[in-house]
Amino acid sequence: MNRILLTPGPLTTAGSVREAMLRDWGSRDREFVALCRDIAVRLADMAHAADTHDAVLLQGSGTFAIEAAIGSLVGSNDRLLVLVNGAYGRRMVEIAERLNLNVTTLSWPDTQPVDPLAVESCLADDRSITHVAFVHCETTTGIMNPLAPLARLTAENGCQLILDAMSSFGAMPLDLRKTRAAAVVAASGKCLESVPGAGFVLVDREVLGRIAHRAPSLALDLGNQWRSFRQSGQWRFTPPVQVIAALGEALHLLTHEGGPSARLRRYRRNLSILTEGLAAEGLEPIIKSEWQAPVIVTFPLPSDLVGGFDALYDGLRSRGFLIYPGKLTERETFRVGCIGAFPSERMSEFVTAFKQVVSGLSVLSSGPLKP
Ligand SMILES: *Cc1c(COP(=O)(O)O)cnc(C)c1O
Repeated sequence: MNRILLTPGPLTTAGSVREAMLRDWGSRDREFVALCRDIAVRLADMAHAADTHDAVLLQGSGTFAIEAAIGSLVGSNDRLLVLVNGAYGRRMVEIAERLNLNVTTLSWPDTQPVDPLAVESCLADDRSITHVAFVHCETTTGIMNPLAPLARLTAENGCQLILDAMSSFGAMPLDLRKTRAAAVVAASGKCLESVPGAGFVLVDREVLGRIAHRAPSLALDLGNQWRSFRQSGQWRFTPPVQVIAALGEALHLLTHEGGPSARLRRYRRNLSILTEGLAAEGLEPIIKSEWQAPVIVTFPLPSDLVGGFDALYDGLRSRGFLIYPGKLTERETFRVGCIGAFPSERMSEFVTAFKQVVSGLSVLSSGPLKP
C-alpha cells in the first residue's frame, strides 16, 4: 500500500519521479553531466539568482548541506550568530560547536518567530559577528521567520547570511535579487517533492571565489565541490545518480504545475482544509495563523485519546495516512504536513479519517470499557 505521507520529508512523490529512478546513469557520461548542469541552473533560477549565485549539489540529507555551508563559509577567525526558535536552529549551533567555530546564539520559544529588533541590537553590540544563520520555515513547529528584515539587518551590518531554506525552497517566495544571502541551503526531498538523498547550496559567486580549502571536512567542502563542477562538470565522489534523475523530473513537474507560486497555492489549500477540518474537532494549531507556514502544522494532542499518539498514528496508518509526532517539549503534540505530491482531495480524506479515528478512540475512553 502506497500511503500518503503527511510528513515533510520523506514525503509523497509523484509516480513519474519514482519512475525516473528506474535506469542507470554513468556518472561521468555527458548525459548525466548535462542533467546536473540543467538542475543547477533551474535551482538558481527558482530563487532569481542566475546572475549572482551558483547552485552546488551535494550528496546526503539536508543536514549534510547545512554542515557543508557552515563549515565552508565561516572561517576560524569569524563569528557566527545563530537565531534559534526550534530544533533545526539548535542543530546549526551544534554543527558550529562541533566545527570549533566562534558561535553566538539568540533564542526564542519554539512558538515565537525570531525578533529582528533583538537581532539588530545584538549585531550593533558585537562587531565581531561576521555571519548570521537562521531557519526560514522552522519545521519543528511550522513557524515562518521574517526573512526580509533579517536579511536586511545582516547585510546592513556587513555580515553574510546563511539561510536554512530546507522546508521552504520551491514553494515560499525567495528572490535573491532583493534578499541578500551568501548561502541558501535546501534539499531534494521537501517542497521540491522529490526523493531524499541530495542537498544543494546556492552560494554567492563572490563568496565562492574566496572559500578555497576553508572547510575542515574533505567531503563537505563546498568550494572544492563547486570547482569540480565548474572545471569538469563532475561530482568529486560517487553521485546519487538515481536521486538526481528523480530531482530532474520533480523540477519539471514543478514547472508544469506553474512554479513555486502555484505550488504554494496548493499547499495553502491543504493548510485550510486541514485547519478547518480539525477546528471542527476543537483542535487549533499551536502557531498563530499569521506565522503559520503551509508546510507543516503542529496541533495539541487531544487529551482524552486512549492510547495517545501511538493509537492515533496506528488508526490513521491503517486508513492510509502517515503523520509525525510533535517535537515540542512543553506539551504533547502531533504534526501534519501540507506538502507532497498529492491532490487536495487527499487532505479532505485525511480530515475524514482523522475524525473517525479520534471518535473511535474517545468513545472507548468514555464508554463502559474504560480501564
Ligand atoms: C529537513 C530539514 C533539515 C534537514 O534535515 P535532514 O534530516 O538532514 O534532511 C534542516 N532544516 C530544516 C528546517 C528542515 O526542515
